[in-house]
Amino acid sequence: MSQRVRVRFAPSPTGGLHLGGVRTVLYNYLFARQHGGDFVLRIEDTDQTRFVPGAEAYILDCLTWCGLEPDESVVKPGAYGPYRQSERKEMYQQYAHRLVEQGDAYYAFDTPAELEAMREQYKTPENPSPTYNQQVRQHMRNSLNMELEAARELIAEGTPYVVRIKMPEDEVIGFTDMVRGQVNVHTSQVDDKVLLKADGMPTYHLAVVVDDYLMKITHAFRGEEWLSSAPVHLMLWRKLGWEDSMPAWAHLPLIMGPDGAKLSKRHGNKYGFPIFAMNWTDPVKNEFTEGFRERGFLPEAFVNLLALMGWNDGSGQEIFTLDEMVQRFNMERVHSAGAQFDFEKAKWYNHEWIKRSTAQRLLPEVQQVLAQKGISDCNEQVLLKVIDLVKERCTLLNDFYEQAGFFFQGPASIDTESIKGKWNEQKTLFFTELIRNYELTQLWQATDLEHAFKEIASVNGLKPGELMLPFRIMLVGGKFGPAVFDIAEIIGKEATIARIKHTLSLL
Ligand code: GLU
Repeated sequence: MSQRVRVRFAPSPTGGLHLGGVRTVLYNYLFARQHGGDFVLRIEDTDQTRFVPGAEAYILDCLTWCGLEPDESVVKPGAYGPYRQSERKEMYQQYAHRLVEQGDAYYAFDTPAELEAMREQYKTPENPSPTYNQQVRQHMRNSLNMELEAARELIAEGTPYVVRIKMPEDEVIGFTDMVRGQVNVHTSQVDDKVLLKADGMPTYHLAVVVDDYLMKITHAFRGEEWLSSAPVHLMLWRKLGWEDSMPAWAHLPLIMGPDGAKLSKRHGNKYGFPIFAMNWTDPVKNEFTEGFRERGFLPEAFVNLLALMGWNDGSGQEIFTLDEMVQRFNMERVHSAGAQFDFEKAKWYNHEWIKRSTAQRLLPEVQQVLAQKGISDCNEQVLLKVIDLVKERCTLLNDFYEQAGFFFQGPASIDTESIKGKWNEQKTLFFTELIRNYELTQLWQATDLEHAFKEIASVNGLKPGELMLPFRIMLVGGKFGPAVFDIAEIIGKEATIARIKHTLSLL
């Protein structure tokens, strides 16, 4: 490739970032890194009616959390700014007017009532919502049906107007998609989309083409839902005389929910899994949606599982670091069929990543999980040891509270029911003696503690096996956790003895 690779993620700031959106970011990012190119984040906010405050900052935060930082964005402007379309408003109009001059677009003056009447008139059972297209446009109030001069006069008088593309009549528009191969669409299937709105703002269709051109984008990767817009965009590239600079397209497969329908918030609510990268509260609807981050996912696991939803390297390998993905990613190996989201599999990825991560890597996240439960002054060296002891047992980061919290805080409740059944006087005597022994011991090491424990048991004619479970429950509250003498070593003499005494008082 002779030209410098430039790709872009172009979200509209209308809400939280869906996992499909993050996957689009990821594929863009991997491709840019792999080719030593630039990854641009452009905010497509031309539709002011759908603007949601906070959504832009949220998108930036999500990218930071995922470790997929753009090279150019609103907070890191490069040579092609501004990076927010609302600030580029003036750039688009000339192109819309140029297309009108050429006869490839036209001014349309139809009022909302006239548009509504058109829909009523052309509605059929097969086509319940007719669009403004080749058949319809000749009957509407637009500059195709009047002298261009007359149209200009109307504009000069202040009549509201939009600019619409004039789709050619009997043509096949074709392009090569990097994922789907040859895609052909007949122009009769495509309506005359609005390019410039009555408020002077471009629509997405015009803005995306003008910006991809001006920002020298070489490859445009986006979700499959945009495939139907591609013919309009291609037409614009052609009619604006830029076809030679048109980016290579890839329309990425949809992500499906467990029922086979396109994954949406509805699935999240129904099945109880997150679909956004991070928690998001819609400030307009005041509606909360949970994120993968807050559910306890590591960003490494999140991007790994997203990469594999639509791509694999053919080797069967499933766990990839970001660097490995940069090496191996290949758009030709992205499949066009929808990718099914499976939350159990997502958790499997996270578990694998937790197991493979060093305690040092997990430390900040685990500290946060514990702090949320009021455990905030843990000794760092101790916590590192604890993380190594329990990480195998944690699928989600939040599991660290259950698996590690008792190292720093006495258990909130003790499962005495599991002890009581087989409890007897002899066992009380054993633990009383154990306390005495532990009080006197100078060596507080797991092996010494175990040795003393077993010796006292045998002197009293008891099997250590019968005593281990009560001991564990005394220390952690229930039947879980790593090796019990490791726990005793870490929590220390004072806490171990206090916890034994506490449970004895309950029995
Ligand atoms: N603004 C569009 C979106 O919200 C971008 C589509 C594209 O990448 O062309 O997804």
